[in-house]
Amino acid sequence: MRSSILNSEIKFIPGVGPKRAQLLEKELSIKTFEDLLYTFPFRYVDRSKFYLISELHADMPYVQIRGKFTRFDQVGDGRSKRLVGYFSDGRSSIEVIWFQGIKWIKDKYKAGTDYVLFGKPSTFNGKLNIAHPEIEVPKVEVGIINTAIHGVYCSTETLKDSFLSTKAFSRIVATLLQTVANQIGESLPDYLVKKLKLLPLRDALINVHFPQSSHLLQSAIQRLKFEELFYIQINLLKQKVLRERGFKGLLCKIVGDKFNTFYHDYLPFPLTNAQKRVIKEMRADMGSGRQMNRLLQGDVGSGKTLVALMMSLIASDNGYQVSLMAPTEILATQHYESIRSMLKDMPVEVALLTGSTKKRERKHLHEQLVAGKINLLIGTHALIEDVVQFRNLGLVIIDEQHRFGVMQRAKLWTKNHQPPHIIVMSATPIPRTLAMTMYGDLDVSVIDELPPGRKPITTIHFTDSHRRRLFGFMKEEIAKGRQIYVVYPLIKESEKMDYKDLEDGYESITRAFPFPDYVTVVLHGKMKAEDKDLAMAQFASGKANIMVATTVIEVGVNVPNASVMVIESAERFGLSQLHQLRGRVGRGAEQSFCILMSGHKLSKESKKRLETMVDTSDGFEIAEVDLKLRGPGDLEGTQQSGIAFDLKIANLAKDGKILQYARTVAEEVLKEDPTLDNPQNVVIKEQLQRLSPENKVNLKEIS
Ligand code: ADP
Ligand code: MG
Repeated sequence: MRSSILNSEIKFIPGVGPKRAQLLEKELSIKTFEDLLYTFPFRYVDRSKFYLISELHADMPYVQIRGKFTRFDQVGDGRSKRLVGYFSDGRSSIEVIWFQGIKWIKDKYKAGTDYVLFGKPSTFNGKLNIAHPEIEVPKVEVGIINTAIHGVYCSTETLKDSFLSTKAFSRIVATLLQTVANQIGESLPDYLVKKLKLLPLRDALINVHFPQSSHLLQSAIQRLKFEELFYIQINLLKQKVLRERGFKGLLCKIVGDKFNTFYHDYLPFPLTNAQKRVIKEMRADMGSGRQMNRLLQGDVGSGKTLVALMMSLIASDNGYQVSLMAPTEILATQHYESIRSMLKDMPVEVALLTGSTKKRERKHLHEQLVAGKINLLIGTHALIEDVVQFRNLGLVIIDEQHRFGVMQRAKLWTKNHQPPHIIVMSATPIPRTLAMTMYGDLDVSVIDELPPGRKPITTIHFTDSHRRRLFGFMKEEIAKGRQIYVVYPLIKESEKMDYKDLEDGYESITRAFPFPDYVTVVLHGKMKAEDKDLAMAQFASGKANIMVATTVIEVGVNVPNASVMVIESAERFGLSQLHQLRGRVGRGAEQSFCILMSGHKLSKESKKRLETMVDTSDGFEIAEVDLKLRGPGDLEGTQQSGIAFDLKIANLAKDGKILQYARTVAEEVLKEDPTLDNPQNVVIKEQLQRLSPENKVNLKEIS
């Protein structure tokens, strides 16, 4: 059982008070005792280790040195005024610099006295120094904070200005722990703590802040990471269990005329084995009487659309309507056109609904849907609107889902008296750990095979100085009858400037590739729908040689004759975006190319991204690198996904093993006790309610 004392406000901790409490809330969102205890150090320093000054270099994190100041000099004036202390460990010396609090420092510290300095080495004017270190007189401290390994907490300038440095912060945590440590109850059932040999919560919290040894620190971190991931997993899995118990699935047992006729007479190419396998998996789900909730993963170009279409035909064979939702109008339109042409000789009514569908047409569509005259409705977000109602919606397919939130997904459930089957298709592969967290309540099918005959795309990295060569190459490819995309980045904050880049780019392309020898079209999100359609149509039909575009073409656009993808300012794109863009070519029989244009100067991270693109075309591998480079919080879609990615201690890029373990344990717990009503699991139930009260809303809305 949890003690309510942890809900007390931090202003009651001795040494905090209302003013600092306010600051801590504003800067770090720390309000209660519990918030404070769960604000962990982001790094640790071993304060038992002292460095020699001669060992220091600027790449080191915080280090500790021992010695004496030989003298202090005040130099510069006005804004560049600073105090320089010369600190020696008896063998060599280093400059210690203060820009603020000069008078105070000069009064407080004396030359010739022994001090311990703790700070970060850096270079200034080619010389190594330490600025604003923490300084202590060597002494032995007693009590709970007498440990050699010290936690370093996140601080902000404002906090530091109010004397809430990491050291002050740590002192507050120590004070709190000294008072409440014995009242910290378990947040996991005792039987689990014992069985899994976890450190009890109390010990974990003490040791994560004040490690008694590096071994205990590791155990503390393990325990807290496990707990954090366990609760995410049990939450997701519980929703899954509730759904499976609570709702009957619409029965789609028949594989009927529509599916069979399409399969035997109109299938444009033989299915890959992977496509066959995932269709089988989904068929089993839909025929089982359970409601299907499946994530369909597959690399760019692996043929997810065709799978979606075939599942739609099964739903239709069983008398149900289907809706297919795509994130952009261009993509929805393209799906509509390609699916309609594949089904042109079949008695399947396909309709399109997007933001630019005319009012009258819309009204007509709504009526037809309710009357059950439309079998397959393809569209954008417009599909979610409440006015869109079906006669009997049986299957919802969401393409490129990571742009839709969990709530949007949930909303589709309400479109039928009984929730429809759901297929979520990912745009690019998602790393396993992320999939387990973002889509942990879904079953997963993976298409791990590309259609045959695809030639690997050659990826080249050029800098701006290669532009003439690039244009020459483009001309050769056009002469061979190929088509080319040239893509410019578009980032929300600097949209205006980006559109300027796009316009300038378009101009320079039309100068180098003059009309009428060459036809260049432009495509971006701000164009009117008709203009977009026209540009797309010209390119798709082969009338245009070059398409200059923003990332609107990133998702799903499919023009097999386009074999060159030029990405301008490639360093500004994320990896999954680059991979998506590259996936627009290599869809036909010809050798395709992806050319990454960038400036000369690149950050370490951009360099790694471009290198990864040149080195591999495996989307799953790229996704893993992306996760490592950026961390899960910044990955596209994670913010909207509705899962809290502000994990306090676990890291999805690094803690895959613990995550898998936590999921397995969560599965076992729920298998034994699906409703968590067993007395030994009371703690779990309580924790779940505390951690995510919004889930109740979520489920209510669905049922
Ligand atoms: P994605 O999985 O990225 O959505 P698409 O569904 O757009 O991929 O398919 C990519 C291309 O591969 C399309 O041109 C599609 O017609 C083609 N395709 C799909 N399945 C097969 C197959 N089994 N054999 C050959 N080509 C296929
Ligand atoms: Mg697709």
